[in-house]
Amino acid sequence: MMRSVGRLDGKVAIVTGAGSGLGRAAALRFAAEGASVACVDLDREGAQETVSAMGERGLVVVADVTAEADTERMVAETVERFGPPTVLYANAGIGGRGAAGEVDLELWQAVLAVNLTGVWLSAKACLPAMMDAGGGSIINQGSITALIGFANSAAYSASKGGVISLTRQMAIDYAPHNVRVNAICPGVIETPLLRRSWAQAQGVPESEVDDLLAEHWHPQIPMGRLGQVDEIAAMAVYLASDESAWTTGSILTVDGGQTSA
Ligand code: NAD
Repeated sequence: MMRSVGRLDGKVAIVTGAGSGLGRAAALRFAAEGASVACVDLDREGAQETVSAMGERGLVVVADVTAEADTERMVAETVERFGPPTVLYANAGIGGRGAAGEVDLELWQAVLAVNLTGVWLSAKACLPAMMDAGGGSIINQGSITALIGFANSAAYSASKGGVISLTRQMAIDYAPHNVRVNAICPGVIETPLLRRSWAQAQGVPESEVDDLLAEHWHPQIPMGRLGQVDEIAAMAVYLASDESAWTTGSILTVDGGQTSA
């Protein structure tokens, strides 16, 4: 039987935060499209579970994206196993609720460290190998909280705003090296992070959070429902593939119309 051609055949991808949610969904799609995928996460078990679902194409890397030595090792382990990375999906992120007047400094710094500094460090570590390989695609994980005001999310929104500015900035510096840099801004997606932060904020167990989520979000989303992880992974595959060869510095919303409402 002839093997069908994958959209990411021959690519070597690094996906941070691949042990859960959006990162796992994208890592699995990347592998299904033919890429070799380094699944990076703080959570070994989560990353292992993702890799188990993809077999030979996957590598577990336990690393903290806020630590430069870890991001350097993440690239070294990827190069050793698969060769130089040609795709980076800098997806690892954490939530953090609170209005600007209430959020404490520790939480602010933790959110900025993972969501913004982690994105930068991941790119910094990948760029030399990516440029040597002749180019690549960096996909940064933004959020629609960077584009419209969301209540009680000062640190998170600021971190994602930074990601968008960094994306545009890096696109300019690295276009001559054939490295494309784009950001995805997902709307409200059903993931463990969303369920956890809502359960926490509302003081209910995670098992009871679905009705509350629907009641709050559906009226704000023209398409009338939350997004699914595969709907973001589909955009990530496009940006990782050569189909997006002339797309750089772009901020792509995937949000059921929420930022257009
Ligand atoms: P999730 O909690 O399900 O997964 C995040 C993963 O990142 C976890 O496996 C976690 O262990 C890992 N991680 C956290 N800190 C890390 C660190 N320092 N180093 C390495 N790994 C680390 O979250 P998710 O909902 O899949 O979110 C993924 C990304 O998408 C985040 O950047 C988030 O801000 C963004 N996002 C999510 C939504 C949503 O509605 N869920 C919307 C917009 C953007």
